[in-house]
Amino acid sequence: MISTKLQDAINAQINAELWSAYLYLSMAMYFENEGHEGFANWFKVQFKEEQAHAEIFMNYLNSRGGRVVLSPIAEVPTEWDGPLAVFEATLAHEQKVTALINNLYALAEAEHDYASRGKLDWFVSEQVEEEENAARLIHRLKLIGNDGQALFVLDQELSARTYVVPSPLAAK
Ligand code: MG
Repeated sequence: MISTKLQDAINAQINAELWSAYLYLSMAMYFENEGHEGFANWFKVQFKEEQAHAEIFMNYLNSRGGRVVLSPIAEVPTEWDGPLAVFEATLAHEQKVTALINNLYALAEAEHDYASRGKLDWFVSEQVEEEENAARLIHRLKLIGNDGQALFVLDQELSARTYVVPSPLAAK
């Protein structure tokens, strides 16, 4: 059995992952409306990944005899001031998620719940990737500046991104 304290914290994390999914879906819809289909595609993939993160935590909590409790998902922003602003918001958000994962990790250690700590290892690495992806695109967008043609090329490039089922789900 998992402790009530850790169960509550994982339920809060499930909500945070679903909020992330909703945020990225909102960003995808913003880009669709702006005519940037590649950026929209990139965020639709993000949306699916975040849903998968929530699912990994749900499966894990169930496997430990815990109870998944789904709470309301808070409102997300709907407007941004261009692609650079969106990716800056993405990086800032992922940095917050990294802090949440680190707090969960510390709680698992404090509770001597080494199974949970082990489960969180994948998320620790995933956050490195999430922050790196956003930071790399911020760098590209800063280089692009006001060059519409270069922005078009990046949009085309991001249209090639496809969703891959994260390994903790694929293994199930
Ligand atoms: Mg996530």
